Amino acid sequence: MSRVKNKDTKPEIIIRSIVHRLGYRFRKNNLNLPGRPDIVLTRHRKVIFVHGCFWHGHGQCKRASRPTTNKMFWNTKLDANIARDKSNIKILKALGWKSLIVWECQIKNQGKLLSKLESFLKHKGNISNEEKRTGFGDYQKKS
Ligand SMILES: [Zn+2]
Repeated sequence: MSRVKNKDTKPEIIIRSIVHRLGYRFRKNNLNLPGRPDIVLTRHRKVIFVHGCFWHGHGQCKRASRPTTNKMFWNTKLDANIARDKSNIKILKALGWKSLIVWECQIKNQGKLLSKLESFLKHKGNISNEEKRTGFGDYQKKS
């Protein structure tokens, strides 16, 4: 689906300013990575997606409820988005990038958002063999 992501939409600005405040340097979506992540932390090999609840299908979220008219059309469209998001994250993972999705509706609670971003960012970005085996571990916390 060809909906072009608006540059510098509000949620993205908020998240960028938090990430910046936490002391991380990043690029805006100017790396040629799958899914064009909104924030790219090259050194840490981490990316952050800011997803609209409706377009990207945020689970049980109120904002993600689907239109009741043209059901087939919407289901096809939105299911395709979700499938593509999943496959992008898989590809990124295979390339050694860690992804975090921040949902539009999570922007409201900035305290919670801050700790979510902080805990994502403070994990070391490089995926060791150990980590590949055991998944997303806690033991590599930055001291
Ligand atoms: Zn949501």
